Amino acid sequence: MQELTHYINGEHVKGTSGRFADVYNPATGEVQAKCPLASADELAQAVEVAAAAQPAWGAVNPQRRARVMMEFVRLLNRDMDKLAEALSREHGKTFPDAKGDVQRGLEVVEYCIGAPQLLKGEFTDSAGPGIDMYSMRQPLGVSAGITPFNFPAMIPMWMFAPAIACGNAFILKPSERDPSVPLMLAELMEEAGLPKGILQVVNGDKEAVDAILDHPVIQSIGFVGSTPIAEYIYGRGCSNGKRVQCFGGAKNHMIIMPDADMDQAADALVGAGYGAAGERCMAISVAVPVGDETADRLIEKLVPRIEALKVGPYTAGDDVDYGPVVTAAAKEKILGLVQSGVDQGAELVVDGRDFKLQGYEDGFFVGPHLFDRVTPDMDIYQQEIFGPVLSCVRAASYEEALGLAMDHEMGNGTAIFTRDGDAARDFANRINIGMVGVNVPIPVPLAYHTFGGWKKSAFGDLNQHGPDAFKFYTRTKTVTARWPSGIKEGGEFNFKAMD
Ligand code: NAD
Repeated sequence: MQELTHYINGEHVKGTSGRFADVYNPATGEVQAKCPLASADELAQAVEVAAAAQPAWGAVNPQRRARVMMEFVRLLNRDMDKLAEALSREHGKTFPDAKGDVQRGLEVVEYCIGAPQLLKGEFTDSAGPGIDMYSMRQPLGVSAGITPFNFPAMIPMWMFAPAIACGNAFILKPSERDPSVPLMLAELMEEAGLPKGILQVVNGDKEAVDAILDHPVIQSIGFVGSTPIAEYIYGRGCSNGKRVQCFGGAKNHMIIMPDADMDQAADALVGAGYGAAGERCMAISVAVPVGDETADRLIEKLVPRIEALKVGPYTAGDDVDYGPVVTAAAKEKILGLVQSGVDQGAELVVDGRDFKLQGYEDGFFVGPHLFDRVTPDMDIYQQEIFGPVLSCVRAASYEEALGLAMDHEMGNGTAIFTRDGDAARDFANRINIGMVGVNVPIPVPLAYHTFGGWKKSAFGDLNQHGPDAFKFYTRTKTVTARWPSGIKEGGEFNFKAMD
């Protein structure tokens, strides 16, 4: 059995707490590694190393820091298949999807190559007699990030790339369910030229997270994961005086207007609802067709597409639509919610409950499910299922559809499918959700824009990546400088006037 490590001060370090988490191969159900769970002492050792290494790194000019990012991009491309393979093996997502996970993180690293430009301050010449005023963006010191299982490459890179490009040291506490890729990323950053101690990986669970929240040297904390933990981390981190941004769960609605291209909408829903087994914070989990006729046409188009989905392990080839969910507990939770939908009166149009994959009976595979006539009081509507389950809520009008998405407590992403520019424009303007798609089911902003939800999907003021990241990982210092003038009329310099 492989025993994974922490990555501290440029070394793979064995865990000393004596506590471990099982890391599964979700396709077979086998435990393939043990992940060490750090104690507060182990976390404190990493913080000490980070605090000692950071001042020198913060003093390196931004262009040289950017060159490390450039080299890191080259190494990510070199090792793309190796990273994707390790990722699929622990997470279960298909090989092309795993490469996409690395690629989307890589794009944030590419954006960070612009650090010299992004870190430039402002300057006002002659703000008063002999007075200039300028601002600079300085690193915070030691930052930490706590990341979820569902994007073990992309989300760590969302955080550590801008933090490090800004001159901070960064401690990553990845998900204990798939920690191998984050460890590989830390090694690659050092191969790219990053000094030891600037990026460290401390594996762990709540104990390590609490140690991060309470450590006085850590200045900022980024979190991505479920909403209850996001709320907890935001509250405790802020009350300890840290800068905190937390991104939580989702329940993304897609509105289908009567004039939508129904084939396009159905294709989009199948990709967005079932891709990555629904384990995406930007997955569409609620379809809201407007009008019964639209709903009937949509269901008719959806059913054969869903029934044709190929579910399998990442090793079965690139035509697999989605793989297993991450753990047996995740599978159990999903099937429990499906049962609640049936019990509460939703119509289960595609039933994946008996799904079995020959040769992989112990894997955590979940068949695709489609519910129709879901109502807002049902658990499957209110809760994030995070599995291959799509719920259809029929709305009588556009206003009712809009109101549903507005009233849901989550506000990560949403989409409208229509041919009517006026409806699309009205929707984009009025909806209280952070990321909006118009005929685009998963409207994930690219690296040079910012990513973040509203309502219970995000806590804090600034979004992930894009220009916001450079604000989050720096603080502004503004200097007002006065140099009394010794220059007399006629240009002769009077040193005495300087006394
Ligand atoms: P999770 O909340 O269970 O875990 C996230 C991180 O928090 C992990 O590192 C975990 O070790 C840690 N953690 C877990 N329980 C904790 C506790 N009690 N105290 C302190 N730390 C704890 O989330 P997950 O299951 O890994 O990821 C799935 C969730 O993440 C979904 O809700 C999904 O919507 C969300 N997500 C959100 C975004 C976004 O940008 N909004 C992106 C990806 C995933």
